[in-house]
Amino acid sequence: MNKINKNMTELKYLGKALLNVLFPEKCPLCGEILSKENRSSNRHICMACHGKINYYDNGTGARSLSLLKHDEAAKKIIYNLKFNNKRDNAAFLADEVVSEFGDKIKALNPDVIVPVPLHKKRLRERGFNQAELIGRKIAEMLSLPFESSLLIRQKKTIPQMKLNPFERKKNLENAFSADGTKYYETVLLIDDIYTTGSTVEECRKALLRQSAGRVFYLTMSRV
Ligand SMILES: [Zn+2]
Repeated sequence: MNKINKNMTELKYLGKALLNVLFPEKCPLCGEILSKENRSSNRHICMACHGKINYYDNGTGARSLSLLKHDEAAKKIIYNLKFNNKRDNAAFLADEVVSEFGDKIKALNPDVIVPVPLHKKRLRERGFNQAELIGRKIAEMLSLPFESSLLIRQKKTIPQMKLNPFERKKNLENAFSADGTKYYETVLLIDDIYTTGSTVEECRKALLRQSAGRVFYLTMSRV
C-alpha cells in the first residue's frame, strides 16, 4: 500500500469512528444504542429484540424475493422509516438484504437496481422515497448501478392496504410509466411492502413495455 492509500484508509477509519460516536448505531426495533455487550449475533439488532425478527420463507428457486415476514417487527421497522424519519432503518434493511440475498442477487446479474417510485406530491410531503434509500444502499454495497428515475408514478394512488381487490386493480391502472429512452436487459425492482404484489407487478409491466428485457423484484417485507 502506498502512503496516500494508507492515509486514505486511516482517514476513512477515523471518519467511521467519529460517525459512530456522533451517531451511534441503534437497534431498529427498540432504539437502544448498540454496544459490544448488547449486540446479538445479528450485529445490527440488540439481544432482547433478536428473536423478534422473522425472515420470509421464499421457498427454493424463487427469483423474486422478500426479506421479512410482515409481522409486528417488520411493520415497526418500515413504519418508523416511512413516517418517523428513521432513515437508519433503510441501512439496516439493505444490510440484511445483502447478507441474506447478496449471492442470489449477483446470480440474477441485474444491470440496474430501480426503486418503486413515489408520486412527486407524496415525495414532497415525506421528503424521501424509502424504496430509493434502501435500493441505493444495496446498489452501493453490491457495486451495481442504480437508477431512481427509470420509473415514474403518474397517478397519486391510495395505499393498497385500504382497498379491496377490485379497487386495487383500478387504483394502479396506468399508475406507472417507464423512461423509454433507456433500456436494461435485467432490472431488479425494490419496494418496501409486498401485499398482493400488484404494485410491483404494475411496475414490472411498465418496465417490460419499454425499458427492460426482464424484471425481478425484491421487497423488504411480505404479507
Ligand atoms: Zn432492540
